[in-house]
Amino acid sequence: MENYDLLVCGAGPAGSAFAMTAEKSNSILVLDGAVNPKPCGGLLAPDAQKALAGFELTLPKDILVNPQIFSVRTIDMKTGNVRRYQRMYINVDREKFDAWMLSQAGGNVDIKKARLVACKKVEGGFESQCKGADGEIFSVRSKNIVGADGANSFVRRTFMPEIKTRRYVAIQQWFNIDENTPDPFYSCIFDPDSSRCCSWSIYKDNYVIFGGAFEPENCRERFETQKAKLKDFGLNLKDPVKTEGCMVLRPVSPASFCTGKDGVFLVGEAAGFISPSSLEGISSAINSAVALSDAMRKGGNVEKTYKAATTGLRIKLLAKNLKCPFMYNPLLRSIVMRSGISSIKLK
Ligand SMILES: Cc1cc2nc3c(=O)[nH]c(=O)nc-3n(C[C@H](O)[C@H](O)[C@H](O)COP(=O)(O)OP(=O)(O)OC[C@H]3O[C@@H](n4cnc5c(N)ncnc54)[C@H](O)[C@@H]3O)c2cc1C
Repeated sequence: MENYDLLVCGAGPAGSAFAMTAEKSNSILVLDGAVNPKPCGGLLAPDAQKALAGFELTLPKDILVNPQIFSVRTIDMKTGNVRRYQRMYINVDREKFDAWMLSQAGGNVDIKKARLVACKKVEGGFESQCKGADGEIFSVRSKNIVGADGANSFVRRTFMPEIKTRRYVAIQQWFNIDENTPDPFYSCIFDPDSSRCCSWSIYKDNYVIFGGAFEPENCRERFETQKAKLKDFGLNLKDPVKTEGCMVLRPVSPASFCTGKDGVFLVGEAAGFISPSSLEGISSAINSAVALSDAMRKGGNVEKTYKAATTGLRIKLLAKNLKCPFMYNPLLRSIVMRSGISSIKLK
């Protein structure tokens, strides 16, 4: 039985940001059981850039991918409207980004490639069963548990099964770029016939990615239908080299969030912190993890302090629901797009 002050489940941006900022006097074990990289657009939005600036970190060049693009082409499949809007994203390799974030953790942090498979409260803390990459099972005792394990959080399902947040299935496919692929562009795609959420295309080095978030029922069929329609907008995508999928959350009300209880804390998407309008989640993952580290440093009632510290984040994310009708209601979207407000005119 290994002993730690804190067991952190998940080494995405939330788990890594927590490991970076937690009090150095704590012994910390970070577990990550990823078999494949997290499906993600890998775009660092201005909020994520600001969160990283808070660490005074500079992004190494080898994390960036080609090309960097300054606008997003918004495509309304229903009406055929297309508009371009300015966006300040940084296009990164998400797997390399996560590895770099994790490499910033201090000497008080042990990192293991293992999955948390069982967990229970015992006197003075928690006892967890973990399964290593080679299949070996080992046990860990910790005073607290931090669930940084994303949308389908095992920690949340184990200790707070009552929390239900609106969820979608995100599917992405990667395609080789060839002579028939149009010049690079980001797109944000709306097709109310196949999804009440959005889809996107992103170029990354030698690949173009098409992905989207869909209601769970018949999600693959919806994805394929939408992909076929892309041909009318210049993207004829065939022979994917990789298909990936995962759950993605869209918070709708205060009940969509849960920061934890009884010695178990949730950060990042596990806590429900992701934008319901754009699905941007890296900044919230980092900011919530830092809020938890700060709350632990202050001591006292950490649960209460951490929850209070994320009030602003919760309000900000819920306020994004006000923007949703203008993005997702076909009539309002059509009016906004036709008006041309804030759009870029091609020279
Ligand atoms: C398809 C898609 C595209 C997206 N694109 C963007 C984007 O371009 N920009 C953006 O800002 N946001 C994007 N998001 C949202 C963003 O990816 C997430 O909100 C963000 O990654 C959340 O960070 P996190 O650290 O909370 O969780 P995650 O990044 O999901 O990390 C959770 C980690 O926990 C590990 N884990 C899970 N269960 C266990 C277990 N039982 N034991 C051990 N480890 C476990 C996983 O392997 C994973 O590494 C996208 C989401 C999706 C689905």
